[in-house]
Amino acid sequence: MTTLRLPARQTCLAALTVTIWTVGNIMVAATAPDPAWLAHDRERPAPPMVIPPTPSLPERPGRPPSDAIVLFNGADLSQWVSMDGSPTRWIVRDGYMECVKGSGYVRTLRNFGDCQLHVEWCAPIPASGDGQGRGNSGVFLGLNRYEVQVLDSHQNRTYSDGSASSVYGQYPPLVNASLPPGQWQTYDIVYVAPRFDAAGRLLTPARLTVFHNGLLTQNNVEPTGPTSWLERAPYQAHPEKQPISLQDHGNPVRYRNIWVRELGKPGKTELTLAVALLDRYTGRYEREKDDIIEIEREDGQLSALFHGVKFRLFAESPTRFFAKTTDLQIEFKPGADGLADRLFWSVGEGATPAPRLR
Ligand code: MG
Repeated sequence: MTTLRLPARQTCLAALTVTIWTVGNIMVAATAPDPAWLAHDRERPAPPMVIPPTPSLPERPGRPPSDAIVLFNGADLSQWVSMDGSPTRWIVRDGYMECVKGSGYVRTLRNFGDCQLHVEWCAPIPASGDGQGRGNSGVFLGLNRYEVQVLDSHQNRTYSDGSASSVYGQYPPLVNASLPPGQWQTYDIVYVAPRFDAAGRLLTPARLTVFHNGLLTQNNVEPTGPTSWLERAPYQAHPEKQPISLQDHGNPVRYRNIWVRELGKPGKTELTLAVALLDRYTGRYEREKDDIIEIEREDGQLSALFHGVKFRLFAESPTRFFAKTTDLQIEFKPGADGLADRLFWSVGEGATPAPRLR
C-alpha cells in the first residue's frame, strides 16, 4: 500500500462514489482514502475535465459525456456483432437498435473490464405476454456472464430476482423504477470485473451497481458467479476484459444511446475477434532457422509458444496482437488464400518477420 502514488480515478454518479486504484496489477475499489496522499495534498493531480452528458428526452437521446466510448449512437451497428463475431441481424431504425427474435445475442467487438455503462432501452408496445415473456432482454457484463435484467416490469409481476434491474436470479432490485412499455428507460451501471489468479482461482468477485431511471436499484452487489436460469453457478476464470452483450430473449426490445467509460488504469484497446478469423493465424512460424513460434487457439484466444514460454495474446486490431506479461507484439500478414502468410514478431523493439511453415 506504499506504492499507491498512482493517479486514482474517481467516478461520482449521483450518490455513489467508487475510487479505483492499483494494488499490484489488480484494480480494486477503495473503501478508504489513498494513503499515498496527504489530506488536501497540493501536489495531488487535478481530476481530468469531462463534459457531462446531457439528459435524454423521450423524442431524442442526450449527448454522452466527452470521455465516453460511444457504443451505439443511433446510426449503425459498427460496434456490435453476433456472439461468434459474425454480423448481427438486429436492425437499426429511427435512431434505435432492435432485437430480432431468433437472431441471438449481440456483443461489442471491443472488450471492457471495470466500467461505467449507460444504456437506454424501451419495451415493446402493445405489451404482450406476461412474466418473463414481456419485454425480456438483458445487459450482460463479462461477455454473457453477469446479467442486469431488462424486462417490462410495469404492472407485470414475476419472480423478484428476475424483474427489471435485477441481477438475474440473484439480487432483486431495491425498488421497481419501471416506466410503462413504449417509454425510454435508462440503466447506469458500474461494473467491477472479478479477478482471478494465474491458477484460475477467484481473488475478488464481480461487483455491480445499477441506477434504473436514476434510482439506485443495485448497491454494489457481488454476484455469486455467472447469472443463469435454474442455478447459481460458481465463478470460472475469464479474462478481465470481455465484451458487453445484449440478450435476445425473443422480444423486440429497443436500445439507444449506449456509451461506456472505462475505469481504472487505461490499457490498450482489446477486441474479441471471430474464431474463424483466429483460425487463419494458427500454425507454426519460423523466425530464424529452427526458431519456431507456435500460434495456437484455445476457445476465443490465441497464444504464442516460443522457447518453451507461452504468451496469451490479446487482439488490438483484426491483425495486431499483444501480450500482457512481456512487451510482445505480433502482427499477422494474410496471404492470398486468407491464411496468415507470415507474422512480425517484436519484443520491446524492432520487428522480425517469421514466415509460416506450410
Ligand atoms: Mg433477460
